[in-house]
Amino acid sequence: MDNIKQEDIEDICFNVSKNIILPKYKNLSENDINYKNGSDLVTAVDIDAEKELKKNLLSILPNSNFIGEEEYSINKNILNFYNEEAYCWTVDPIDGTTNFVNGKEKFAIMIGLTFKEKILRSWIYKPLEKTMCSAIENEGAYINNNKIITNGKNKIEETIGSISTKYWESGFKDKLKVFKNIFKEVSAYRCIGLEYIDIGIGIRNFAILSKLSPWDHIPGILFVREAGGADTDFDKNKYDFTKKNKNLIVSNSEDLNLKILEKLGEYL
Ligand SMILES: [Mg+2]
Repeated sequence: MDNIKQEDIEDICFNVSKNIILPKYKNLSENDINYKNGSDLVTAVDIDAEKELKKNLLSILPNSNFIGEEEYSINKNILNFYNEEAYCWTVDPIDGTTNFVNGKEKFAIMIGLTFKEKILRSWIYKPLEKTMCSAIENEGAYINNNKIITNGKNKIEETIGSISTKYWESGFKDKLKVFKNIFKEVSAYRCIGLEYIDIGIGIRNFAILSKLSPWDHIPGILFVREAGGADTDFDKNKYDFTKKNKNLIVSNSEDLNLKILEKLGEYL
């Protein structure tokens, strides 16, 4: 067992957010903002926060490995840590960087702990609210100390969610306009971690995802699974963070995922 104390992770997130993230909220200078991989925003805050998270997380779990979104952008080989017989942290120091840069509210620190292909624990921390959302494999999903059980909607026309089509064929873009109409509402937070939380709570119902970077999905997937929801890729398998570029449907039930997938098949 990993022996991680919940309070330790809470302290780490609280301090990184207090000392590094929040002082720069609505207070970034031009020099703090950059682009990576062409068009993705990255700030000095993402990089500094990740370094601090790395230092702290590695110190509470000796011999563990660390994969961070920002480190990955300069060294793709770090993904090989997933193959090692060791605990591995996966971190997105700021999920929702664009919102953070624009002074909007939806951004979060995200942390996952895995061993080989198993997701053991995860944490999604909201700096502005000081709210910790977390999940433990086979135990449950929690917001602060309250256990979360998702509530199921399974009529597609009553559901609210998001559709990401980053890697889909360009020809689908036109069909998407029609496909969207089968749902009650299609909108996105630009902070996928908080969409996962709201699917867990039942405020939202689904997300159709297409850019499956592990730091974006490991924390939220465990949260939704432990709240009673489900994830289904387009081949009807569960999400496997060690595989790349799959499309995925996440919702409050396997049943709803399969219904959405079936509908999608009529359009793709
Ligand atoms: Mg990020």
